Amino acid sequence: MSKRIIVLGGGESGTGAAVLAKTKGLQVFLSDAGELKSGYRDVLARYNVEWEEGGHGKELLRGACEVIKSPGIPDSAPVVRLAAEKGIPVISEIEFAGRFTGAVKVCITGSNGKTTTSALVYHMMKKAGLNAGLAGNIGKSFARMVAEHDHDYYSLELSSFQLDGITTFKPDVAILLNITPDHLDRYNYEVKNYIDSKLSIINNLGKNDSFIWCSDDEISNREMKKIKTVTRLYPFSQKTKNIPGAYIENNNLVISLKNNKIEMTIEELALKGRHNIYNSMAAGIAGQLLRIRKDVIRESLSDFQGIEHRLERFLVVHGIEFINDSKATNVNSTWYGLESMNKKVIWIAGGIDKGNDYSVLDQLVREKVRAVVCLGKDNSKLLKAFSGVVPTIVEAASMHEAVRSAYYLAKNGDAVLLSPACASFDLFENYEDRGRQFKNCVRNL
Ligand code: ADP
Repeated sequence: MSKRIIVLGGGESGTGAAVLAKTKGLQVFLSDAGELKSGYRDVLARYNVEWEEGGHGKELLRGACEVIKSPGIPDSAPVVRLAAEKGIPVISEIEFAGRFTGAVKVCITGSNGKTTTSALVYHMMKKAGLNAGLAGNIGKSFARMVAEHDHDYYSLELSSFQLDGITTFKPDVAILLNITPDHLDRYNYEVKNYIDSKLSIINNLGKNDSFIWCSDDEISNREMKKIKTVTRLYPFSQKTKNIPGAYIENNNLVISLKNNKIEMTIEELALKGRHNIYNSMAAGIAGQLLRIRKDVIRESLSDFQGIEHRLERFLVVHGIEFINDSKATNVNSTWYGLESMNKKVIWIAGGIDKGNDYSVLDQLVREKVRAVVCLGKDNSKLLKAFSGVVPTIVEAASMHEAVRSAYYLAKNGDAVLLSPACASFDLFENYEDRGRQFKNCVRNL
């Protein structure tokens, strides 16, 4: 049997990798331990890719020269272990796709803010008239895009799982937004492994590439002091001024690279909240590095529409503003959500707790929250954390009930914020389903 590439997983990433391999004339076989979605089956059929589902065949790895692993599959999966034992290289779809495009790539990673910042960078690229694609952890896979419609520029959202399988892939501009421990179940419960995964985005950067990072972020800052790199460094900060990157001065966002300066007021920024100032800073620096015109950068940062489920202010009912932050699936993103509120808040929280420490929210909750509505199958931890911190704390068993309770507890001029700090799988299909149910229930009030 001649050498062939084995793709593990037949979702967006795996299907994309298989399609790309096929269009490049390589031998490829896709294998999934579960069932493929019919949409992906159709795509594989269209490209004549051979595949199996419902388990991996015994001879799967025979003659394999390389394994492309989908990001959802852990290294501990038996088939991945077997590949490692046999000495077959296991790479990610991003590594694979990077071989087939000469595009300029801005790659964005971090624990929170990836999707927002990737979409913002893409918006800027499009506004500048560049032939650009948005891919990675968002929308279409990078490999599928390279296969079907390659671009000159990419804004790529990269999760730590996608970074894990990278060996030679090199961004032109890399952005690390922040590091707060998440997904530790995939990293042997070792924070260090998760940190190393995020930092691997810097590994292959050369002296003509750029690394943009948040120097206010404790972990990034600590790690950057240890790292030796030849790449160009552009920090952004809301605490330190006059750095060669982005900072705040007199309520102005300043992006300052060499002799090039862009200034705009915080009020002009489309994305509100302190966390979004960071995202705008990172995107703005990337824009400057791509030599996008100043007025285009300024305009992009001020007219960006934001994305669904991220502090999405979608409706005001009888003077009460409803905000959907369903994508806030960890304590850190909820912290920024609450922090950005300038009204009293009825806070809908809860779901599957991933080992949360709620004490970091204490002060913000005391200051801003009028009542908490706990929406999860098991609310005991939330109840314990916030009883005595807020005057009112109630439980709800469905989104309908949660929205009704929040509505009755709110006063004119308040905000109702769904920012769960938890995963959604106990009561919902995913965070999108949770956000959509929230919006539907509000619209039916
Ligand atoms: P990701 O793609 O990394 O999950 P998103 O852009 O989807 O990030 O945002 C996820 C959540 O994190 C949202 O609740 C959002 O408001 C919040 N968030 C966005 N940017 C940041 C940031 N820089 N720091 C902390 N939280 C953020």
